[in-house]
Amino acid sequence: MTDITALTAKQAADAVASGDLDPTELFEAYRAKAAADDLNAYTWVADAAPAANGVATTPLAGVPLAVKDLFATKGVPSQAGSRILEGYRPPYTASVVERLAQAGAPLLAKTNQDEFAMGSSNENSAYGPVLNPWDRTRVPGGSSGGSAAAVASGSAPWALGTDTGGSIRQPAALTGIVGLKPTYGTVSRYGMIAFASSLDQAGPLTRDVTDAALLYRHMVGQDHCDSTSLQHPEEIVLPTAQRLDGITLGVPEDLTGEGVEAGVLARFEETLKVAEELGAKVVRVALPHADYGLSAYYVIAPAEASSNLSRFDGVRYGKRVDADDLLTMYTTTRHDGFGAEVKRRIMLGTYALSSGYYDAYYGRAQRVRTKIAEDFATAFQTVDFVVTPTAPTVPFKLGSKTSDPLEMYLNDYFTVPISLAGLPAISIPAGLSEGLPVGFQLAGPAFSENRVLDAAHALEQAIGFDATAGRAG
Ligand code: GLN
Repeated sequence: MTDITALTAKQAADAVASGDLDPTELFEAYRAKAAADDLNAYTWVADAAPAANGVATTPLAGVPLAVKDLFATKGVPSQAGSRILEGYRPPYTASVVERLAQAGAPLLAKTNQDEFAMGSSNENSAYGPVLNPWDRTRVPGGSSGGSAAAVASGSAPWALGTDTGGSIRQPAALTGIVGLKPTYGTVSRYGMIAFASSLDQAGPLTRDVTDAALLYRHMVGQDHCDSTSLQHPEEIVLPTAQRLDGITLGVPEDLTGEGVEAGVLARFEETLKVAEELGAKVVRVALPHADYGLSAYYVIAPAEASSNLSRFDGVRYGKRVDADDLLTMYTTTRHDGFGAEVKRRIMLGTYALSSGYYDAYYGRAQRVRTKIAEDFATAFQTVDFVVTPTAPTVPFKLGSKTSDPLEMYLNDYFTVPISLAGLPAISIPAGLSEGLPVGFQLAGPAFSENRVLDAAHALEQAIGFDATAGRAG
């Protein structure tokens, strides 16, 4: 008997649909693996398989789903990696989790994450760091580090993450899996504990590109509970492309990034060669303002966070530190409940929004954001996709960047401009450097997910990445 957890999600769904695999047995196999996880990837694991009546005829056929902790899940701890939400069990479930459950993907577990999704290493979680299954002395990336480690190590078939400035793509890259950040608005944010609402976007972390398409297909849709959500203009289909004939890839000439490791650049250049062998043309493309992406992002995201996080006051959710008067209760709750990075962002954001500084910081950052979006729009007049390494480095050692926030922020160099422009992008494994995974990022125009997935599929087939060392971890 083969190991059923070795199947991709699509293969498992097909096996359940054809009657060859019992969905309860599948759930139990993953439940046992998730419960035994020793990477600290999970903050909660289901204690029993749900009733499987009729599930075999649903599109996702009972293939269990791991969900980043910041998605509200009814009656199940939803703490967003924060002490301030310790013990919080929401009275409702996030729209996208509900939608996927309706499509036949039951909740397997909640995954660890950086506190309120602020971070690139998962070391900002109040529930401890997550270990990278490729090397346990290294980080899995963040902020969806638990989801990435869960999928990479094989204890979950697939997982939901969120990406505000790179939090799906960068951990996918650092753990050798696939991560898709969709076009902003195509997936409902209702029930996602907010970090920066104009950027936050849910997406899949999966073992391969086909699984990413399958999960995303059932995530999309307008939701009356999220006024920024919209109907995807296309039905999402499973990718089939084997070639890239007629496709032009643009390599940004302005995003060279000084801190990019030689091994990462080597895998990137090789992937471009693979693309050319598949028929693609590779050209240089100008994105003159993208280099300012990090500066703009680290004003806009903290500004929105400072506003979003004001709701955590000890009254409505989770933790409260009692005090004699109301103001002291607020301040001690927030002092004890938030971690250092969250406090740093609240202070930065509050400052950037304060009277007299608003236009100099927030207003200016918004204008830069518009320039970056215009750069991409111009680029897509001549190229089909913009491609970069996903992250500048391979997974780094735990603790090596925790004392230097700016160094940590540089992880987002290649992912943030795309987030600011609201565009879809995927990270696929491009091989190894020093025995550790390297990601290749491919971004397209708004709503081009079908093309992005197809191109990523063709590259994935040609690259033939071997993920077994991550599974063994
Ligand atoms: N690493 C980035 C940050 O810390 C992005 C996080 C995210 O996408 N949620 O803000």
